[in-house]
Amino acid sequence: MSSQPPLIAAIVLGLGLAFLLGMVANRLRLPPLVGYLLAGVAVGPFTPGFVADPHLTLQLAEIGVILLMFGVGLHFSLGDLIAVRRLVAPGTVLQVTSATLLGTGAGWLLGWPLPGSVVFGVCLSVASTVVVLRTLQDHRAIDTDYGKTAIGWLVVQDLLTVLALVLLPPVTSLLHSGATHGPGVGAIGGALGLTVGKFILFITVMLVIGRRVIPLLLHYIAHTGSRELFRLAVLSLALGVALAAAELFGVSIALGAFFAGMILSESELSQRAAEETLPLRDAFAVLFFVSVGMLFNPSVLFEKPWHLALIFVLVLIGNGAVTILVCRLFGYPLTNALRVGVALAQIGEFSFILVDLGVKLDVMPSTARDLILGASLLSIIVNPALFYAADLWRRRLDATRDQMPAKLKRDTIPPTSLTDHAVLVGYGRVGRLIADRLAKAGIPFVVIEVSRDARDKLAALGVEAIIGNAVQDDILDAAGLAHARLMFVAIPEAFEAGQIVQKARKRNAQLRIIARAHFDAEIEHLTQLGADVVVMGEQEIARTMLAEAQWDAA
Ligand code: AMP
Repeated sequence: MSSQPPLIAAIVLGLGLAFLLGMVANRLRLPPLVGYLLAGVAVGPFTPGFVADPHLTLQLAEIGVILLMFGVGLHFSLGDLIAVRRLVAPGTVLQVTSATLLGTGAGWLLGWPLPGSVVFGVCLSVASTVVVLRTLQDHRAIDTDYGKTAIGWLVVQDLLTVLALVLLPPVTSLLHSGATHGPGVGAIGGALGLTVGKFILFITVMLVIGRRVIPLLLHYIAHTGSRELFRLAVLSLALGVALAAAELFGVSIALGAFFAGMILSESELSQRAAEETLPLRDAFAVLFFVSVGMLFNPSVLFEKPWHLALIFVLVLIGNGAVTILVCRLFGYPLTNALRVGVALAQIGEFSFILVDLGVKLDVMPSTARDLILGASLLSIIVNPALFYAADLWRRRLDATRDQMPAKLKRDTIPPTSLTDHAVLVGYGRVGRLIADRLAKAGIPFVVIEVSRDARDKLAALGVEAIIGNAVQDDILDAAGLAHARLMFVAIPEAFEAGQIVQKARKRNAQLRIIARAHFDAEIEHLTQLGADVVVMGEQEIARTMLAEAQWDAA
């Protein structure tokens, strides 16, 4: 590999090995990201064999962070952010402060000087955006109430990290010079004021100019009819705004991308824009995990196992348990608080940047970096299992609630009272047309739709809706499949549709299931799993086009 340019070697080996070890992890029923992290350790400088350039991999990973945050911004409107502000703004500040205090205590116990211990505390208090977003995406939870709370939490943590990064150099130089008043304190106040001022300016520019100019630009490019140009435009916007935010306004690159996405989420083009960046986003997000693995020095596992264990536990407490407590303190429901807390119970990129700066400024020893990296790796590896356990616990809670009087139940989905009805899965371009016809024909039906945005639309039309992923058993049960007569699976994703069809068939052998497909192979797949009829969109389009051709008249 030494004859290959380092960028190509880093991408090929990083992605290739991540794929292989991701597959192995999958076989072992572990989340693939464990494989990605181990791939990083394998190509990292601390293990024998090929060593990818860590600087290059980190930069590639940064692109993954930008695209992920951009994608999240696309699903997030300003209204969502405002809606969660009451819990998220004070809650995050409280959580970060408590976790920082915990970490400061740990640093002090390890014999580090106070300033270093405080920085160490901040490192332990901020979760990795990438890990939270991956967890939420894997559980299709970006649009849920707890998903939005977790994202709001990340945004505030992100802002606090930027503040910490800006304030760290003047504070340490003040401490090193030993001054306690005079220009040193002024410098800190100045840095603080400047950062807050720049951030407000950035938001204002985005809201006043960006909100008008960006959608206009995309509309214009969409009208040129070139998909390639449109894709390029979306990508340049996401990366460009992120970079400008960092360079001109001192806002973190990830936060800049988030706001660029949020501005777009207000225009109807947003969905299309999101899809354009999807494949790239996933590939770069994988490189993020590879780069984390590369930084890890496995010798810390043998040299300082107890220190590592202490810090790992502190991460779980400071980011996870404290978040759950704070959420409960603000009256947030337990099951949601649990999921927000667990999603945040890890550390990642922000902690690396902070600890790196701390080591460079000489306020903490370089072992702190190894410990932070080790704790981060462990916390990222156990995170999916924790999330799974939290979900299991939530189901248990729900099950116990089933035995409670109805008015004590919360969060459970009330089953439909309809019988002999139709169940429609998906209320998008296809589902909407079906719903319209069913309503006109007077056929009773219930809709299952994963997007919360559809809830209000359906409620306004007086249609019964169950909001959630139809793959989940509780959602399917709530639709009363056992007493239903008809089912329309009107979603585009065939693998998910297959699972839904299979589960529905198990619940009702007589049910007539009509499913949607886009390829020949999907027709076979869905039929095998129990669909009575599978309609392929493309075939129907061709049929109608031919029917409309009017040969005879021509
Ligand atoms: P369209 O492709 O425009 O017909 O939209 C498909 C609709 O199905 C969208 O509104 C999705 O939110 C919804 N959808 C996709 N997958 C699921 C699922 N597993 N459960 C419920 N709704 C879904």
